[in-house]
Amino acid sequence: MKSSRIPGFYKKTVEERKELLREALELSEEDLGVLSSNEALPIETADKMIENVVGTFPLPLGLGLNFLINGKDYVIPMAIEEPSVVASASHIAKIVRDAGGFKTEASERIMIGQIQVVGCSNYEQAKQILLKQKEALIDAANAAYPSIVARGGGARDLDVRILNDSPKSSYGKMLVLHLYIDTCDAMGANIINTMVESLAPTVEELTDGKVYLRILSNFADRCVAKATCVIPPELLVTGDFSGEEVRDGVVYAFEFADSDPYRAVTHNKGIMNGIDPVVIATGNDWRAVEAGAHAYASRFGSYRSMTKWSVDKEGNLVGELELPMSIGTVGGAIRVHPISQLAHKILQVDSASELAQVIVAVGLAQNLGALKALVTDGIQKGHMALHSRSVAIAAGATGEMIDIIAEQLVKEKEIRVGKAKELVEQYTK
Ligand code: NDP
Repeated sequence: MKSSRIPGFYKKTVEERKELLREALELSEEDLGVLSSNEALPIETADKMIENVVGTFPLPLGLGLNFLINGKDYVIPMAIEEPSVVASASHIAKIVRDAGGFKTEASERIMIGQIQVVGCSNYEQAKQILLKQKEALIDAANAAYPSIVARGGGARDLDVRILNDSPKSSYGKMLVLHLYIDTCDAMGANIINTMVESLAPTVEELTDGKVYLRILSNFADRCVAKATCVIPPELLVTGDFSGEEVRDGVVYAFEFADSDPYRAVTHNKGIMNGIDPVVIATGNDWRAVEAGAHAYASRFGSYRSMTKWSVDKEGNLVGELELPMSIGTVGGAIRVHPISQLAHKILQVDSASELAQVIVAVGLAQNLGALKALVTDGIQKGHMALHSRSVAIAAGATGEMIDIIAEQLVKEKEIRVGKAKELVEQYTK
């Protein structure tokens, strides 16, 4: 690549951009051919969704099965590239189903908008003035986005904090106004940002300060969903492991993650293995959900397990997962991506609150799937068997050859691309 400076790239058509890319990187027609092969998201739609589009990037879409949540059955669309995640979620959902299913609940869907004010001559006084004007400020925010008020949502409350009270930084104190907004079934970024931007001039006037940032907070701790499950040990028997052994192993695994960030990060990554694919498939912003989830896992001052596993008086394994869930069933990519629209039809959820509850149930299932494997056979047995198919494809296997080569790799306990290439050569001789 001579230079990544390609003036006017954004103004070109997709075909022109591809041609520029081909020339710049000496790619072949065949290289670029893969960019045109996805019919599910038309290139014209993709070109309107983001900038500098040259193609689309498909992911496998699998279905998580067996989910019984609050007595209702769900088929869960999951978009993910990692093998064994969908299988594991479905496996645990079957066990939980036999134990009566997941129970879930959700808080109100209150999102937070922040306004940062600096340069006030008297911060305490500025804070009191804003609090005194609370009702007027809430009314003004709602006037900036009347349609969400008409839908039953809108700004509900307001709070003010002073940060850097004992300043380490030379820039010193600042005042932060929090606007609490019910965004109904939308994730709400645009609603929130419109409201806080509209309040900024008034806030400057009232505080005699300067407003810098006006933006939502992804730490959506007033928009949380919680899932629980209660599993008798007999449903946890795995191979030679008794249900009690598996149950106790899961609790030990939780306690490990809850007291050690090195373990917690991997433990929580496993939870997000379940959550992200549903968030992605439903057209939601998984970066927002990821950021909120990890911040919530740190809310007590250190980074800890997102889930909690314990044993009740009857000896059952009890699992809980509570997370912020800033997702929507309307808006953003949901209304333009044809697959996300289908995903919502498959899920049959009536509201963002219901979708949030389904998502945390999948996260809880995914965590138990990983922990159950880890405390019994280890993660590699099931994972590598499924991974072997990707290895076979990477080695050039196609069609029926993929499963044959994959099985052979597992049988020979050598799941490597080099080995797979040897097998492909033998097979095609
Ligand atoms: P939209 O603005 O696209 O959609 C929300 C709008 O949908 C509402 O304002 C409302 O408009 C309409 N609507 C229709 N039915 C309903 C309903 N039942 N409940 C609520 N609203 C309804 O999307 P969002 O504001 O939700 O923004 C989401 C996007 O913002 C995501 O794609 C995200 O990536 C992006 N984003 C995220 C940021 C972050 O996380 N930090 C920052 C900036 C953007 P009306 O009433 O007028 O019909």
